[in-house]
Amino acid sequence: YFIDEKYEPKTTYKISGEPYHHITHVMRMKEGAQFYLVFSDQVVIQVEIIGIYSHEVHVKEIAKENQEKELSLAITVACGYPKGDKFEWIVQKATELGAAEFIGFPAKTSVVKWDEKKLAKKQQRLAKIAREAAEQSQRSVLPKVHLLSKQEDFLTLFSHYDYVLVAYEESAKQGETAELVHLLQTVQNNSRVLAIFGPEGGFLPEETTAFLQKQAVLCGLGPRILRAETAPLYLLSAVSYHLEL
Ligand code: SAM
Repeated sequence: YFIDEKYEPKTTYKISGEPYHHITHVMRMKEGAQFYLVFSDQVVIQVEIIGIYSHEVHVKEIAKENQEKELSLAITVACGYPKGDKFEWIVQKATELGAAEFIGFPAKTSVVKWDEKKLAKKQQRLAKIAREAAEQSQRSVLPKVHLLSKQEDFLTLFSHYDYVLVAYEESAKQGETAELVHLLQTVQNNSRVLAIFGPEGGFLPEETTAFLQKQAVLCGLGPRILRAETAPLYLLSAVSYHLEL
């Protein structure tokens, strides 16, 4: 469970709110049950339940978790809004595969048109999905989700990243995958990578031109055209294979 505070050694940790509800009502854990707590500074400890009260679970620390669960690249998955609930699916699976953050933005061919109210609701739902997936995968980072209402706002974020890669099917058709290989071979540990994926209709030339003006590179992900929800998972799996296996 992710805890919204920094790690500080204590004899008893008190868990309330949503994690309390999940531990007692969903998982129906009893005294003696063990699980992991993840603090906001990414410290992970294994704990055991020593008491269950009406609004709190009390646990004690048993051991520190030392196995690194995070990719050595912080990969932000940015998607032009795909149809229906595909973004939910992307957030869940890409969190399992190690994505550091998610950004949604309206691409020119995005079919869905969400107003601010709908975006706020959707962002809340996606954040919940990311949290559950991160807990399930025992991540030590809880990926944040930002849903934007304008593509121009998205372009202003590029400067925050060390490397911006646009997954582009036209590059794939030309066999241009060198940028991905280059990324895998040369990028430094802990670099921040922004990986951008189009919706079902892909990107229009005017969009890729705008991305290129902001120092992005276009890249194919192998010879087959993948669905909008498959492409981010392919990239994360390729990075994991290269860096972790
Ligand atoms: N309508 C597009 C076409 O047929 O050319 C396909 C768009 S694809 C379903 C959705 C998104 O996935 C693309 O915008 C791209 O970001 C990514 N994508 C899918 N296959 C890819 C590949 N082989 N290489 C790079 N990106 C790919």
